[in-house]
Amino acid sequence: MKIMDNEFKIQFLGGAGTVTGSKTLVEVEGKRLLIDCGLFQGLKELRKMNWMDFPIDPASIDAVVLTHAHLDHCGYLPLLVKKGFSGKIHCTRPTLNLTEVILKDSAKIQEEDAERATSHGYSKHEKATPLYEVKDVMECMPLFEGHELNEWVILNEYMKFEFLNSGHILGGAFVNLIVNGKKVLFTGDIGRMEPMLLYPPKHVKEADYIVLESTYGDRNHDKSKDVKNELLEIINETIKNKGTLMIPSFAVERTQEIMYLIYKLRQERKFPNIDVFLDSPMGMNATNIFHQYYEWQKISTKEINEMYHDIIFIKDILQSKALVADNKSKIVIAGSGMIEGGRILHHLNKHIENPNDTLLFVGFQGEGTRGRSIIEGDSEIKFFGQFREVRCNIRSISSLSSHGDREEMMDWLRKFNSPPKTIFLNHGEPHQTEALRVKIQHELHWKVIVPKLQESFELK
Ligand SMILES: [Zn+2]
Repeated sequence: MKIMDNEFKIQFLGGAGTVTGSKTLVEVEGKRLLIDCGLFQGLKELRKMNWMDFPIDPASIDAVVLTHAHLDHCGYLPLLVKKGFSGKIHCTRPTLNLTEVILKDSAKIQEEDAERATSHGYSKHEKATPLYEVKDVMECMPLFEGHELNEWVILNEYMKFEFLNSGHILGGAFVNLIVNGKKVLFTGDIGRMEPMLLYPPKHVKEADYIVLESTYGDRNHDKSKDVKNELLEIINETIKNKGTLMIPSFAVERTQEIMYLIYKLRQERKFPNIDVFLDSPMGMNATNIFHQYYEWQKISTKEINEMYHDIIFIKDILQSKALVADNKSKIVIAGSGMIEGGRILHHLNKHIENPNDTLLFVGFQGEGTRGRSIIEGDSEIKFFGQFREVRCNIRSISSLSSHGDREEMMDWLRKFNSPPKTIFLNHGEPHQTEALRVKIQHELHWKVIVPKLQESFELK
């Protein structure tokens, strides 16, 4: 159907009814723009969608704009390029660097998984193929263009946009898109109103349309607890037990936040005498990028320089093996954040059955992951081909999050001068999105739409 004058279309190709696979298509006068290009993650049903044909011809997309470097927002890019996309990929400068680290890691994991499936014979095909490889990531990197915040980027005669700080992770930004004179604001993921290291999300006053995430649409973070003291208590407990504290952590933002809390405890001279190790190649790469972009963070350059000083960085696999073998009481931060792979498994292999050791969760644990099973109290988990009894202490600091909660999102929305014509809610499990829809309609009386996957809307 021909779009009428001044009309444009948005279509939700991912991140609708789920927290992963974020992709929203904006179409005007034959020009196509994709906001985010995320991978579907988690349960098998979702992951299968990454293997399906892309709903439109990728070669027909003129440009991609990324809100931030998380895999559920950028992880499909190598495939999009493989399938014919050759336009520019716009993002902020830190997002460009972080995306490269995250995509290469994702490709490596997929290559290893495919290799394992082939050698163990659990692939239906003779040779299992990865979704994409490191070489595919390298193919898409030259298409990237890094930008500053608040810099207008003209895409064509109908569309321009600027990035506005979202406070979610380093480089994370809202996309303030002007289509045919109408303002459409995509939040990507929205950060906490008082992030630990970053500047708070930008207050926006006006928009014709808003596309808002809803991950925490149904709940609030527990703000009654002081995370620094919670961490200190767990560290002291570990020292008392002469044990090892294992912290599975996401490489971007959470790892640096934990290092910052440890630094603050040291500064306040509350930090006991115990070595802290970062045993995560991706965590180290990400930390180097944090070091490079000090002006994007609200903490001082002095703090940034000092906070990494007392952490021992594990450089290679030999050092990592030596660390696992060492019986001294210590703190180890390692990936992956949901214990789906990475060096944390080797530390867990050594300590999981020892009641003097502690496994501390500091981030969200997705459905179907080992982290979720442990946190929900499973007495055994399987890794390295064996079931192992969970006998170490399980602790969790649940209020650490890079997502604004329901009240924080509502506060942010209340700062708009006038209601948008429509607010679309995406990036949430159905119950989370539904709860936020009811809250916005009830309190703000705005028109709210919860789009279904593939659903499109004509706007003007
Ligand atoms: Zn995110």
